[in-house]
This record gives sequence, C-alpha cells and structure tokens, in this order.
Amino acid sequence: MKKEYPSVILLGSTGSIGIQTLELAEATGIKITALGAGKNWKLAEEQARRFHPAVCAMADEDAADELKVRLADTDIKVTAGKESISALAYLEGDTVLNAVSGSAGLAPTLAAIDAGKPLALANKESLVMAGETVMRRAREKGVRVSPVDSEHSAIMQTLRAGKKSEIKRLILTASGGPFFGMTKKQLREKRLGDALAHPTWSMGKGITVDSATLMNKGFEVIEASHLFGVPGENISVVIHRESIIHSMTEYIDNSVIAQLSVPDMRLCIAHALTCPTRKMGVTPQLDLTEIGKLTFYKPDTDAFPLLSLAFRTLKAGGALPAVLHAANEATVNAFLDGKIIRFTDIQETVMKVTDDLWYFSGEKGLDAVLKADTEARRRVADLIKKG
Ligand code: NDP
Ligand code: MG
Repeated sequence: MKKEYPSVILLGSTGSIGIQTLELAEATGIKITALGAGKNWKLAEEQARRFHPAVCAMADEDAADELKVRLADTDIKVTAGKESISALAYLEGDTVLNAVSGSAGLAPTLAAIDAGKPLALANKESLVMAGETVMRRAREKGVRVSPVDSEHSAIMQTLRAGKKSEIKRLILTASGGPFFGMTKKQLREKRLGDALAHPTWSMGKGITVDSATLMNKGFEVIEASHLFGVPGENISVVIHRESIIHSMTEYIDNSVIAQLSVPDMRLCIAHALTCPTRKMGVTPQLDLTEIGKLTFYKPDTDAFPLLSLAFRTLKAGGALPAVLHAANEATVNAFLDGKIIRFTDIQETVMKVTDDLWYFSGEKGLDAVLKADTEARRRVADLIKKG
C-alpha cells in the first residue's frame, strides 16, 4: 500500500493539538512511533495503549513513575524528565510534531532540527523566543519547518501563488477573541471565566487567554516574520470574526490570495505533515452559502495594546521577543492560578516588564534568550508579590 502520511513522533500528545493529531492518526492510519507529554499520565496511558508507540516520555518525573507502573504489562518503554522529551526526536519516526505548550517547547524544537527530522511546529513560542536561531539552524541542517498554526499554514499555502520578491504584505486574520469590540473600561471588569470562552476555536487555556488579549496574534506576527523571512513592516492583522479565511498574502500587483476552510486544526496538522502534497483528511467541506457573509475590522490596539507591543518588540529585535514571551507566559500562568484577578492586569504587567527590560534588544543568541527569559519571569514574580 502507498504510504499516505509520514510516521510521527508526537510531543505534547495530551494537549489540544496532541489530541487532535491522534484523532487524525486514528482516522487516516498515521503511525505514531513515540509520544511525549508533561504530567497527564492518565491520558498518556490511554494514548499509549491505543497507538502502541515504542517509547512514551513524561517531562514530570512522578508522572513517569506512575506511567511506568501502569504500562508494565506492555513493551512500551517509559522515559522521564524534560530531556526525555527532546530525546524522542532522535528515535525512529519520519517527522516530529511539536505540540508542547510554552517555553518548554524550545528544546524539543532544537532537538528535532539537530536530529535532521522535518518539523511540524505547533509550538510558536520556539519562534517567538529564538526565531533567528531556530530558522538559522534549520537552514544549516536542511530541515523543513512546517507550521501547524492555522494562519501560518494558510500563508504557506498562499505563498505558492507568487515569488518571494513579489510579496507585498502578509495579512494575518484574527478572530478578535471573546472581548472583541469592548472598551478599555469594559475590559477592566473581565475575569478568568470570561477570558476562557473563545468564540471559534477550542484550545489549551494559555493560548485561549492569549487570544483574548491579542497577544497570541502578536506572537503570530513574530512567528510569521521568522518563518517566511518577511519584516514586521510588511505584516498586518485584520479581525475576521468568522475564522473562515485563515490568512492571506498580498502581492505587488495588489492581488490578494487567501486560504479558506472550516476552522479545524486537524486540517492544519495534516497539511504540516504532508505539504506540499495534499491528502484526504477528516475536515468537513466548507459551505460558503451556509456562512453567508464574511466580515473584517481593524484591530483596536488601544484596548488591546499587546498586539502593537509585539510589532515594536519584533522591530527592536535581539532577545527582546524572548522577554515579551516570558513576561506574558508568567503573567498568564499567574492569571490562570488566580494570583492576578483582573484581565487588564495582564496587559499592564507584560508592558511594564517588557519596557523595563528593553535593553535585551541589544543582546543576541541562545544564551541571551535564556537570560531574558529568566529575568522577565523574576520581574513578573516581583510585581505580583508587590501587588
Ligand atoms: P495544551 O495546553 O492543550 O497542551 C500542552 C501540551 O504540552 C500537553 O500535552 C502538556 O502535557 C504538554 N507539556 C506541557 N509542558 C511540557 C513539558 N515541559 N514537556 C513536555 N510536554 C509538556 O496546549 P495546546 O495543545 O493548545 O497548544 C500546544 C502548542 O500549540 C502551543 O505552543 C500553542 O501555542 C500551539 N497552538 C495551539 C493551537 C490550538 O488550537 N490549540 C493553535 C495554534 C497553535 P500535560 O498536559 O501532560 O502536562
Ligand atoms: Mg493561530
């Protein structure tokens, strides 16, 4: 039988993207050769029994111990610790799909590149933190990095309509999140429960809050700039509530090419695994007459200042995007843990810490990224302690 999909080493299997990857695998026969996750050993056990990977790694050591006991009756090897996630990249398997959330995804991204495996990348944080290093190493190793993120998947597809020298602008679409159209004053009343209600996509909690602040879109601007080698000046964002157009490329003749589909991450996952080839997938067909109309608005950067902060951070460069990322991740974690109550305090904390550490724009390389990450988290912790 002709091989339809590559075999996959799946990192972050117990999260939203991981689960949808396994749904796709079940429906299409994708072979999963290894699984990696954080601490959800219960779900990891179920997944291991269903997909029979050779190895199952848990970043959390206690979770790994538990999983080892649970899988003792199988021949699946269980490995433990953060390094065990990166180590999976060197095992058997055609492609690494990195769906680990947050900064923990950077080391596995670098490991996949080092192992010379094509990388299907959901972990946009790798590119926000260290985009230059990641893309340089990928070029040196001749490794293909295919985005899973829906906007970047769309752009990758629309880039086939012209040459690099003919690109005028990348146009990222954004759903606008649950607080679209609200004023700064209204946003001040918003709390965690409100922020977790996303209108069109069902995702992990961190990225759902980032969608509400538009920080996610800001990160995606940085991600797009590194992936496609286009500067921030040539990237713009448009609010598109229906999430049917996933992004567009405008060419020098003012022709705009868009990619449309029903919002379903399984399509993006499948495309990242097989591109530039297309395979039969599981995503339902788009019926535009049922949708009726598509709407577009300018983002309100006054009420959602983190979007423009991302553009400024990208332009300043160096390790500053790593500061922005770490400041946001630490602040959002505090919001999810109830240590920050007001939604607008996320924006204020992230802006203050990024402004204070602006000097990181003059520092380059992986060491600077790690230093920026540590320093930003320390500042966030201090600010929260002070109240
Ligand atoms: P989730 O929070 O749902 O899942 C995160 C996954 O990462 C879980 O499997 C978790 O394991 C695992 N994990 C966390 N820490 C570690 C660690 N230290 N080592 C190994 N695994 C770890 O996130 P999503 O699936 O929503 O997002 C995953 C990535 O994809 C993010 O980078 C996000 O930005 C990106 N993305 C997501 C989209 C979506 O629609 N969800 C869309 C576009 C991009 P456990 O639960 O076992 O602790
Ligand atoms: Mg996206």
